[in-house]
Amino acid sequence: MTPGQSFWDAAVVLRTYKFGEADRVVVLLSEENGKLRAVAKGVRKSGSRFGARLEPLSCIRVRLHCGKGDLYTISGVEPQMQFPAIRQDLNRLLKSSRMLEIVDSVTADELPHPGLYLLLQQALKTLEAGDSPLFLVGFCWKVLAEEGLAPDADSCSICGSSGPLTSYAVAEGGLRCNEHRGSTSLTAESVEILSEILNGKLRKALARPETPSVGELEHLASRVLEMHSERPLRALAAMRGTLN
Ligand SMILES: [Zn+2]
Repeated sequence: MTPGQSFWDAAVVLRTYKFGEADRVVVLLSEENGKLRAVAKGVRKSGSRFGARLEPLSCIRVRLHCGKGDLYTISGVEPQMQFPAIRQDLNRLLKSSRMLEIVDSVTADELPHPGLYLLLQQALKTLEAGDSPLFLVGFCWKVLAEEGLAPDADSCSICGSSGPLTSYAVAEGGLRCNEHRGSTSLTAESVEILSEILNGKLRKALARPETPSVGELEHLASRVLEMHSERPLRALAAMRGTLN
């Protein structure tokens, strides 16, 4: 973006932090320009014209001015979605916070990522409409799939056999059969749920009741995401593309 120019974009507010005496930096995942950091001037004073529209979780249309420094300046905000049901339910609010944190951790600044924006926006709409024990598990694995890092859910990543698949190799990525055991054991139910999420049957997975597999798959997804968030996922996926 050229200094001096302004533009509109749609965005989800991922987080904010204090900046200077009365300002706040807003970290946005925008639809067309990826993750951006922008200063909301005077937002911590009472009577600010932006007010609650720039709180984490808000979906907005935002006008950004490109100055000389590293940060954009917010010059206009139109609220799109505020997600009242999520904000009034502590369980859902915690889940949405974790989603924003995950998206923040896997993205680099200013790398356009419309697929991830759409995934986050759709997931927030789904969570606004209703909760599910498997919501966060589904979201994590969809993020990994969006980044091209999800496993083939139906075959062993070493021998290609259809199993039974009984473990996951966190460092290498991929499900494993009994003969090629990976670092983390999985129950048959967890493997079945993972297959539903990654093979277009997310609704079926979300309709499932709470089971021990929820914890197992949440823990596994966190470890896989951690493995990849030291370096932005997008960059990693691109690098793999060049190597292959
Ligand atoms: Zn195998």
